[in-house]
Amino acid sequence: MSRVFDIIEKERKRQAENIELIASENFCSEAVQRAVGSCLTNKYSEGYPGRRYYGGCVHVDELEEYCIETWQKVFKTDYHVNVQPHSGSSANFAAYLSVLKAGDTVLSLELNNGGHLTHGSPVNLSGKIFNFVFYGVDEKGYIDYDDLRAKALAYKPKLILAGASAYPRIIEFEKFRTVCDEVGAFFMVDMAHIAGLIAAGCHPSPFGLADIVTTTTHKTLRGTRGGLIFCKQELAKKVDSAVFPGTQGGPLQHVIAGKAITAEEALLPEYKTYIENVVKNCKAMCNEFIQMGYTVVTGGTDNHLFLLDLSDKGVTGKAVQEACDEVGITLNKNCVPNEKLSPMLTSGVRIGTAAMTTKGFTAEDFIKTAHRIDEVIRSLQGK
Ligand code: PLP
Repeated sequence: MSRVFDIIEKERKRQAENIELIASENFCSEAVQRAVGSCLTNKYSEGYPGRRYYGGCVHVDELEEYCIETWQKVFKTDYHVNVQPHSGSSANFAAYLSVLKAGDTVLSLELNNGGHLTHGSPVNLSGKIFNFVFYGVDEKGYIDYDDLRAKALAYKPKLILAGASAYPRIIEFEKFRTVCDEVGAFFMVDMAHIAGLIAAGCHPSPFGLADIVTTTTHKTLRGTRGGLIFCKQELAKKVDSAVFPGTQGGPLQHVIAGKAITAEEALLPEYKTYIENVVKNCKAMCNEFIQMGYTVVTGGTDNHLFLLDLSDKGVTGKAVQEACDEVGITLNKNCVPNEKLSPMLTSGVRIGTAAMTTKGFTAEDFIKTAHRIDEVIRSLQGK
């Protein structure tokens, strides 16, 4: 047997034994894994259903159409859907390419304040091709909507982007739409982190407001690793050609099968209960840290994650991440608003409850884990 299966087995064991608190991770179902590991991986199908560059696409056409319809049901939308992006980053690049030209100005949330690399970081292609400018967060860590409007009026961006990798509060999409209308910008939402909450009705929806919505399918949506793009019907052709042939070749039909099952699962009543528990557990764990005297960015959470600001504890995010790893708790270091340390060190950690809620963790289990993390932090302070 290949050495690869030994490595997979070690990783399976790690996933089974560790407490997984990385806010962008989850555990997808056996059905999703079966679809992603299926014979569909053998099939080339460049193009779109009914318009392929290869023969033998009758079954993958049916699959891709079913996948599209099922996602429209999940988000109760008639937006056009492209299910081919290989990842969240690929979805974002194709979305940019659909409405922007090199050098165009885009307004987004900076990486250090909770944004994502693909939202214009200078080390990412997005920041090299387009002229990204950034809105900030206020002293508490909330999106500064006055700054958003001021920057929009000053820079006249072609596109304004809402969405984040590390933002614990509700994003007020209407406010973004108003600013976009004022300056004539396209409105794009990258809902990768909160897509599951939106699907379950636990976060306001961007559908009807945004021109383009991108997401990953593997975070709170609990599916296979991949990306999706939704857009208003008038942008459908532009988005489709930005995905293929603009930025990708053959779609991964085995992954599209996994995405279709992810959508079916998100339509089940148990999924709504799951997401409600994710949010409830997150509040419970976050409140426990506050009770123990920790500083939490924005003073709490509305979603599946929260950020501990450790600047008053004399430990770095990196040290806490490494020490937690040693006791089987997986989380990640994260910048806090107005970060003073480098992104390799950071003053904070990001904690999410989506993955362990899938494993059946209750609020009490998360509270116990908060105390375990507190012990780890106190042991570091003693060093
Ligand atoms: N957008 C946001 C908001 C994210 O948090 C992430 C990943 O963490 C991505 C996009 C990129 O997704 P992927 O890692 O699938 O490229």
